[in-house]
Amino acid sequence: MSDIKGKYKKIIEDLENNIKDPEDLIYIKEKVIELTTIFMDIIDRLTVLTDARIKEIEERQEEINSKIESVQSMVDEIEGDIYEDEDSYEFEIVCPYCNYEFTTDIADEEKDEIKCPKCNNIIELDWNQEESACDGNCSHCYGEVAEDEQEYTSKDEDDDKDDKNEDEDM
Ligand SMILES: [Zn+2]
Repeated sequence: MSDIKGKYKKIIEDLENNIKDPEDLIYIKEKVIELTTIFMDIIDRLTVLTDARIKEIEERQEEINSKIESVQSMVDEIEGDIYEDEDSYEFEIVCPYCNYEFTTDIADEEKDEIKCPKCNNIIELDWNQEESACDGNCSHCYGEVAEDEQEYTSKDEDDDKDDKNEDEDM
């Protein structure tokens, strides 16, 4: 600012040194002051406008921040609901006895059996068993094995019936 003042002072000095007529000098000096006042006024108005805009931006920023905060707290709540117990997770089970499909929260992976909520049979859970090691009790292959067993059983029954019938006939 002091540099601007120095420059202004030098312009006035130049005018005083170069304009010989005192009336002209007064007139020109007045016009220079008038011009300066106009520019100062423009600068003031711009400054006020700029300040107002900065304030507006700051207020909007605060609004956005509080909105982000509320969203963040909502996300935290949802995360809290999802990961309430980090050791438990939803597990889908198809009952091999009645084919009833249900989901269960199994917190303890060591748990090796669960009761079917529909038929109340105990379903054994083999957590670490490989597919090839399955002995036919898993829900995936139980149906097939059961069908095969049924076929054999019905055949045997038929044979028994025939035998019985023969016995009766004799
Ligand atoms: Zn069942």
